[in-house]
Amino acid sequence: MTSSSHYDVIVIGLGAMGSASLHQLARVGKRVLGIDQFHPPHIHGSSHGETRITRLAIGEGTAYTPFAIRSHELWREFERETNERMLFPVGGLIIGDRHSLGRFHNKSDFLGTTIAAANHYGNTHEILSSSDLRARFPQFAAGDEASAYFEPDAGYLKPEVCVKVQIELAKKHGATLRCGERVKELRETAHGGIELSTDVTRYSAEQLVVTAGPWLQSIFPSTFPSLRVTRQTLYWFPIKEQHELFAPGRCPVFIWSFGDTEGGIYGFPAIDGREGGIKVASESYGDLVDPDNVPRDVSPSETRDFYETHLSGRMPLLEASSLRSTTCLYTVTPTSDFLIGRLPQMPQCIVVSACSGHGFKHSAAVGETVAELVTRDSSQLSIAPFLPL
Ligand SMILES: Cc1cc2nc3c(=O)[nH]c(=O)nc-3n(C[C@H](O)[C@H](O)[C@H](O)COP(=O)(O)OP(=O)(O)OC[C@H]3O[C@@H](n4cnc5c(N)ncnc54)[C@H](O)[C@@H]3O)c2cc1C
Repeated sequence: MTSSSHYDVIVIGLGAMGSASLHQLARVGKRVLGIDQFHPPHIHGSSHGETRITRLAIGEGTAYTPFAIRSHELWREFERETNERMLFPVGGLIIGDRHSLGRFHNKSDFLGTTIAAANHYGNTHEILSSSDLRARFPQFAAGDEASAYFEPDAGYLKPEVCVKVQIELAKKHGATLRCGERVKELRETAHGGIELSTDVTRYSAEQLVVTAGPWLQSIFPSTFPSLRVTRQTLYWFPIKEQHELFAPGRCPVFIWSFGDTEGGIYGFPAIDGREGGIKVASESYGDLVDPDNVPRDVSPSETRDFYETHLSGRMPLLEASSLRSTTCLYTVTPTSDFLIGRLPQMPQCIVVSACSGHGFKHSAAVGETVAELVTRDSSQLSIAPFLPL
């Protein structure tokens, strides 16, 4: 191994989590290498699809809210530094049901936990009754049992821009990049570092950060047997009438939980104008997929099923057939929480699996946390709930 292929830190995987980690490590002066098998931002993992919801009061658990708050500060810093727009605070609506503990992202009482987090952290918000909700947001045909939370600082992020900008900032701060190179093997060295082989060459480092998303299990085949990689479908539906109700500013991002067992939907305003439709999706925790062989086409019957099961009667201003669709991958832990921390059996390696369908909004702060772990083995934001066993 030559000294030119030896680094302080290597980051494997440059999606949301890896691009943020690479950037923050470069920023604190580490000699850092980022490797990705594709050319990020790309459409093969979890960090594409044009928009991601961001919100400050987090219904997946109150431990997440500090990551969301810090990430918003960081996105704003990056925007000022680069003149690229990443965060669009169009407001966020969470609709639940007064009579059930509506579930979303596998978390029961999503609305209740959101409200508790907002109260705990002092996030600006309003609680809407079903009649308030229908009067203010007639796009949603919510029943009398609905109640809702509205957060004005919530909105959406542009995931491809976030990844691209953080990779560019990382390079500006001296990071080296190797894209189109797949890590095949890694091993500990006698002095406690790491050596790894890609399909092109070999590298070594003092520390390793693995942010491989859906491919984490292929890097550590026996360490994370309970991670589930599932295929998700996203749809853009045309607006039939009253287009103005779906314009950003009039339509917030939304999450609508239908109850404790019935699933729900999430979606975005019409960010591409009246002809672009609105992006809506639900969540699928069904069949597991191999990230290297994902069926990418979305069939007309999948679209029909999605419309009938999730939109019909609930969003009557949308047409029934979609303008377009795409797929993306969730990597889900048994509790739908994140994994962030050093591997006990390989302490020079920090692993981040921060998906379970809700990681993007936290990724800027996760990157900063990784850089803190690398440099001083502790972090300002607590990762205690997320440590890998
Ligand atoms: C459909 C969908 C909707 C979502 N909606 C939201 C939302 O609204 N709000 C929100 O906050 N979050 C949301 N999420 C979750 C969020 O997008 C993820 O948490 C986040 O993108 C995960 O990023 P990642 O870096 O872990 O994975 P990825 O983006 O998949 O990155 C992993 C990278 O590792 C690389 N890699 C893997 N193995 C190797 C190897 N051996 N060698 C080299 N490179 C390798 C891959 O090529 C890839 O680039 C959503 C996710 C999906 C799929």
